[in-house]
Amino acid sequence: MRPALLLTTATLALALGACDPAQRSAPAAPSATAAAAQVPSQLPRNVRPLRYSISAAPDAANLRFSSSVAIDIEVLEATDTITLNAADLTFSSVNLDGDRSARVSIDAAAQTASFRFDAPVAPGRHRLNIDYAGVINTQAAGLFALDYTTESGQRRALFTQFEAPDARRFVPSWDEPNFRTPYDLAVVVPAGQQAISNMPEAGREPRPDGSNVIRFQTSPAMSSYLLFLAVGELDRITTTAAGTEIGVVTRRGAGEQGRWALESSARIVPWFNDYFGTPYPLPKLDNVAGPGSSQFFGAMENWGAIFSFESILLVDPAITTEGRRQSIFEVAAHEIAHQWFGNLVTMSWWDDLWLNEGFASWMATKATAALHPEWEPLLDRVAGREAAITLDSLQTTHPVVQRLTTVEQISQAFDAITYQKGEAVITMLEDYVGEDAWRRGVRTYIRRHRLGNTQSEDLWRAIEEASGRPVRALAHDFTMQPGVPLIRVEGGTCSGGQTRVTLRQGQFSRDNPSGQALSWRVPVIAAAGGRELRTIVEGGVAEASVPGCGPLIVNYGQAGYYRTLYTPAMLGRLTEGFARLRPLDQIGLLADNWALGLAGYQSPGAALDMADAAPANANSKLWERIAAILASVHNMYSADPARQARFDRYAAARLTPILDRLGWSPRANERANDAVLRGEILGTMGFLRDPAVVAEANRRFDANDPSVTAGPLRQTILGIVAYNADAARWERLRVMARDERNPLVKGQLYQLLGGARDPALAQRTLDLALTAEPGATNSSQLIGSVSGVHPDLAFDFALAHREQVEGLVDVSSRSRFLSGLASGSADPAMVEKLEAYATRYLTPESRRPADRAIASIRDRVRVRRDRLPEITRWLEARRG
Ligand SMILES: [Zn+2]
Repeated sequence: MRPALLLTTATLALALGACDPAQRSAPAAPSATAAAAQVPSQLPRNVRPLRYSISAAPDAANLRFSSSVAIDIEVLEATDTITLNAADLTFSSVNLDGDRSARVSIDAAAQTASFRFDAPVAPGRHRLNIDYAGVINTQAAGLFALDYTTESGQRRALFTQFEAPDARRFVPSWDEPNFRTPYDLAVVVPAGQQAISNMPEAGREPRPDGSNVIRFQTSPAMSSYLLFLAVGELDRITTTAAGTEIGVVTRRGAGEQGRWALESSARIVPWFNDYFGTPYPLPKLDNVAGPGSSQFFGAMENWGAIFSFESILLVDPAITTEGRRQSIFEVAAHEIAHQWFGNLVTMSWWDDLWLNEGFASWMATKATAALHPEWEPLLDRVAGREAAITLDSLQTTHPVVQRLTTVEQISQAFDAITYQKGEAVITMLEDYVGEDAWRRGVRTYIRRHRLGNTQSEDLWRAIEEASGRPVRALAHDFTMQPGVPLIRVEGGTCSGGQTRVTLRQGQFSRDNPSGQALSWRVPVIAAAGGRELRTIVEGGVAEASVPGCGPLIVNYGQAGYYRTLYTPAMLGRLTEGFARLRPLDQIGLLADNWALGLAGYQSPGAALDMADAAPANANSKLWERIAAILASVHNMYSADPARQARFDRYAAARLTPILDRLGWSPRANERANDAVLRGEILGTMGFLRDPAVVAEANRRFDANDPSVTAGPLRQTILGIVAYNADAARWERLRVMARDERNPLVKGQLYQLLGGARDPALAQRTLDLALTAEPGATNSSQLIGSVSGVHPDLAFDFALAHREQVEGLVDVSSRSRFLSGLASGSADPAMVEKLEAYATRYLTPESRRPADRAIASIRDRVRVRRDRLPEITRWLEARRG
């Protein structure tokens, strides 16, 4: 799965929710196998499913469905009660082996149904036949509907989303990843519509009313969260790659917009066939586009039938930016990586979700680097590391491997620790054992556990066998305990062509810097102009002689998950030589030192000096990071317009030469990343309210310039117009959004409305979100985009209309949605408001995102109080 992509103006993004470990309930599994007994479960282990045969009849118009399922089961010990998962299902008949009916009792809180029989059911094989009905949701959980408008009127398509555990909303089931079974699925499909599932169609029976019953081929044994169904007026384009039929499925008429994803997938699948050493195991692989959006996710790796929201699957030449084209490739690579790592081999329980997601994220970067080196995706690993450390450096963090028991905890686990720290740790471990040994280990792991379930330890075992290196110990340090190591570098004298340093391990913390540091074995790669030195800081300290006497870089190549604190003298040399460093180290050093400056370990001026030393022709991703830092400082000065204006002049002086170099118009044969950078620089300058940039964007908008109606800058220009909008321009954007037929464009336009800087317009956006106008899945995005600029306004509004707003959000995202709105606030009063909200509406386990938001608000308040004056002094010293 990929979390939802949020609007990327130069504004703040919603912080992701998170979760702390909680007590795991003991599995009630006296007769299960020893291996299975170690796997947590919320269900009794006296019965297990062997195969499901589902026949579903959706009633899309009335948002409900009826269904029957035959489940072949094995009863492991005699019992008169069979308990499985079910949520929002009603049962009309439950029958065992054709002749024994059951009484049904529902536990809504536990999301289970229990079937009680008059006498015990004997051990052995049986068949459960269940007739039941359920609801079609309007948010993406279980079977859900997405509505859109075509030339000939309103349309409704149906899709499923079962991760985290929502298959139970579609079929009564043992809805836990460790229960792998084959699935047979049949569905009644209205005349003129198509259906897609994990497997190809096996046959269809026409019915008198013109509808068809479509049956799909039996799936391989798989986990329930990977089952998929889509029904609607669909187009499908296909190609073949390495013997596999690859498809992209869209709403009718949009098929060609899937061409980029189709061609990309056709390159990715053979690359993974080779990397994993096991060919893609199903006869076909579709990627199914759904209009609209979700607060919870952007794409989902259902086996053989990936689902993606249109915004990260379809390319519309009129609106798609170069950055988005690259994201589409990378998201497809992530989901396709899961087809092996996650689907063919599946985590036993959600505790190891990180391995699924961290690995897919890491693999997507790796595949993209191999297939599109010109995009330089490895440079983005710094951004991933920073996203993880941002969460991991507050006391509200949690270990990568966490104990998860409840549905609420599982939903909260899809956060930057799981994804980005997971990716960072895997990057570090691969670097430690070497690329070839790592791949050999992965191949062994996939071969050994295919069609099975695993825990993290199974991967470490395979990697250790392949590499002969003690990976497990390192992995445990970084996955079983929370937090971020800090390596303090001392010494630095040069003699005999060697730089001698002492590396001392502490812990990087933004809200408890003087606390007792945890202990890690930290693999370090250092370089000082000569050969790189590899060592491990163990037991808190290491002495190292680094070949060379040039500027010393301790996290050379940036594969390590830690921060590095240099002496002022070392920083001076790094800054002096900054322009000549490799882009990866430039980006990593800048990010590292900026964070250390904001946390108070050193002056924020150290990073600003580095940014100052970047030449105009430096790598485009370095400039993206500099632009992001300039935007964040601008934001820090929001309560001090005079100083903000002075800072903005400095920022404009830095960014204008870059814009002059790139120009407003794409140039023939320019580098793809320059096209991305153009959008980022313009967006940042629009956010800084640069008069020339805002005037030009408004001029183009008012004149209906071709660059506003179509083309790669359209979204950027509209974003600048929206952020700086007056009432007339906002209204014009709103009419554009309302009248837009293409759901992809419509969603983007509505999000832009929420980006208005003027609080009165932000309020109008919020009011609009509660009307039917934007459409069910756009409304929460509208509120979310308001929170990027006006977190306090958005939170107050959502709290005042809490029930209505929660109805607009996926079930799995509700507890963290309001906290996420507030988390960008810099107002100490918001801490009290969040406390009150959490106390009143949240449970001890669902309040974790609120606690995390509170921690980041406190940190922001501290930075503005303590660190901003230093930035002001740096700026004044520079000017003087
Ligand atoms: Zn994923």
